[in-house]
Amino acid sequence: MKTNTKYIFVTGGVISGVGKGIMAASIGAILKAKGLKVSMQKCDPYFNVDAGLLNPREHGECFVTHDGAETDLDLGHYERFLDEEMTGDSIWTSGKLYKCLIDDERAGKFGGKTVQLVPHVTGLVQKTFIDNSKHFKSDVHIVEIGGTIGDLEGSHFVEAIREFPTKVGRENCLFVHVCYVPWLSTSEEFKTKPAQNSLRDLREFGIIPDMVVARMDVDKVIKAPHVAQKLATFCGVEADAVVLMPDAKSVYEVPLNAVKGGVLAPLERFIDHGDPDMSQWEKLVKNIEAEPKEVVKIGLVAKYIDNTDTYLSVTEALKAAAWKAGVKLRTIWVDAEKATDADFAKVDGIVVPGGFGARGVEGKIAAAKYCLEHDKPYLGLCLGLQTAVIAAARRGGVKQANSEEFDAPAKARVVYIMPGQKGKESTGGTMRLGDYPAKLKAGSLVESLYGEKKVVERHRHRYEVNQQFVAEIERGGLKVSGTSPNGELVEFVEAPDCKYFVATQAHPEFKSRPYRAHPLFEGLIRAAKSA
Ligand code: GLN
Repeated sequence: MKTNTKYIFVTGGVISGVGKGIMAASIGAILKAKGLKVSMQKCDPYFNVDAGLLNPREHGECFVTHDGAETDLDLGHYERFLDEEMTGDSIWTSGKLYKCLIDDERAGKFGGKTVQLVPHVTGLVQKTFIDNSKHFKSDVHIVEIGGTIGDLEGSHFVEAIREFPTKVGRENCLFVHVCYVPWLSTSEEFKTKPAQNSLRDLREFGIIPDMVVARMDVDKVIKAPHVAQKLATFCGVEADAVVLMPDAKSVYEVPLNAVKGGVLAPLERFIDHGDPDMSQWEKLVKNIEAEPKEVVKIGLVAKYIDNTDTYLSVTEALKAAAWKAGVKLRTIWVDAEKATDADFAKVDGIVVPGGFGARGVEGKIAAAKYCLEHDKPYLGLCLGLQTAVIAAARRGGVKQANSEEFDAPAKARVVYIMPGQKGKESTGGTMRLGDYPAKLKAGSLVESLYGEKKVVERHRHRYEVNQQFVAEIERGGLKVSGTSPNGELVEFVEAPDCKYFVATQAHPEFKSRPYRAHPLFEGLIRAAKSA
């Protein structure tokens, strides 16, 4: 098969959690800065078909793509680093792969053939690479393989990438292995043995990488020629193809650190496309490092405060807004189950993020009530709109106001289940998901923040505002400031008497970029700054 597309495969070794995804996305950002069209995909070994039903405490945020897929938080990194919208097919889990194959087998699509790991599973994996690169019309398609090399459950992906060069040409494939090189404080030396072992494991699959990224326990880019030389010798790569990567204070330093660490030499041997223009990243890092004096404290009233990755896009969106507004952000985690007015009083602004289930919801409603009554800046995201509406309805005289989600028999269901959603509460991929447009009311705060009358945001919800209660909600201090184009669904509410009280049924955090703050988050930070 002839191809103009180049493919980069990123594997990990030694331990997980050393930033393989960030490194893959940074390589993508560097190539994009060279003017190339870059796309990315993740191959994740787990058997869940998608991340929709996974517990966020265990798995972190469920990132929603514009086309409505419930995916892994890595896709959020890809979007923030590449500034490209991923799709549902930017991630392939083993579950999704096997489901496709088994569905095809049951539909009789294999013409009587035995369906096997090789070539059918591996062939489908390879087809996803080609389909993605075609969809995005990319010059370079980057594939991150989840987990670490040697994991039994990821081996079909590794076999697929091992075979792939025979189909598209070895010269069109670059293998990058990201491994960890620990520092042994007793003998004061870096130990390359675990990395060597992981490279040997990779070799056993038949893959000799073209670039080795050594993640090291140091806080700045260093030259450690003996480490690079040793890894190069043992792995059969050129010494300048070993890139030493220190810990970074912010993930957004990684593209610049990668350039400083020498990533360009092996990349340019693979694809030569001029110097990258890294000015956007330099500007961002300068902003991040600026350490402004003025501190803005934002309280995140949430349920999973023991795994803050659950709200990753929200915290990244807050950071981006703070960098833009030139303030130092301090995020205060407020346990929704224990939250009191004293917690709300301590902060300059409050975010109630998305969530599911009754646990902690009264704390979130109390946060909205407090903000309405004390003119405290509030941003409600999805569930955060629903809690605001409940708080307002209660203030407006509907004492029993609640959501059908938390109190199914409640008489005053000011938030109720959308038609067609009933009975699907624990099934995957069935919510109102992905991009939906909203029209904003003329003269509303949201209209002035967005600077547009029609906006599109990503969604992930089953419940909606019951518009029979609009009069009471308005009496309680909120007005509807945006709806679906046909007016049937409430998309935005705001409090005309408050400086900044905005809530949306959507998840605007997914569209924030580190260098392009989202207007709703920027609005919150600016209001909190002047509080
Ligand atoms: N649980 C609410 C619903 O399903 C809110 C969902 C969310 O915050 N993503 O409508």
